[in-house]
Amino acid sequence: MVYNKAYISNDDEPVSYDNIDSKGYEEAYLADVIRTKMKRDNKRFWAGDNISDYVTEEMKHKLIDEATEAFELVLDRLLIDRETDPNSQGTARRLAKMYFNEIMSGRYEPSPDCTAFPNDSEDRYEGMLVVRSELRSMCSHHHQPVAGVAYIGIIAASKLIGLSKYTRIAQWCARRGTLQEELANDIAREISKATGAKDVGVYIQATHGCCENRGIMAHSSLTQTTVLMGHFKNDPGTKKEFFDNIKLQQDFAPR
Ligand SMILES: [Zn+2]
Repeated sequence: MVYNKAYISNDDEPVSYDNIDSKGYEEAYLADVIRTKMKRDNKRFWAGDNISDYVTEEMKHKLIDEATEAFELVLDRLLIDRETDPNSQGTARRLAKMYFNEIMSGRYEPSPDCTAFPNDSEDRYEGMLVVRSELRSMCSHHHQPVAGVAYIGIIAASKLIGLSKYTRIAQWCARRGTLQEELANDIAREISKATGAKDVGVYIQATHGCCENRGIMAHSSLTQTTVLMGHFKNDPGTKKEFFDNIKLQQDFAPR
């Protein structure tokens, strides 16, 4: 049995990761142990992927410690005095916590719990449902903020989920490093999974920090992406109803 040097808590108890490696290979960092395991499993761990199967709540503390160390090094390399500058003293840890617990939390947390209610009685709802969800995300190219709104439409299937769950799912997908195109796909897939609906439409409009704060410094640019599945894609009437609903929503709550 080979014990690696990773610790998952502060009580200094070494934790073994069976099957991680049988050749006596040791990792200094828990993050490296987890990465090795994901590679071995052919598990993709891109910035927009959820890896909650590999990261427990307990491990997160250790991972935050490790990321703090790494951010300290980045600040040092940027020649920022984190010893005497009071505003930079805790910055490395603040960054590490912010990444794990906030701006990338959707990578490490399992999908939101969505209780589904049956929608199969005689007077079942068969219409379209459009939910407006405010989004905060981050581009995986520059780690700049993405802010906007997603309009999620479905044709009700055999089960329904609570209205707030649409936004919880959208936010869970958004709290990662994403591209807006990828995000629209992710939300459509997860909404379809949670509701059983094959007919799903997702329209996102968002501003991008990487266009506003750097590069072209465009302050009023807006990016729109649309993903249509099932009737939303194949039936012009459904598609029109979806976009008419979005228009009504926008009149009601302008972005
Ligand atoms: Zn970017």
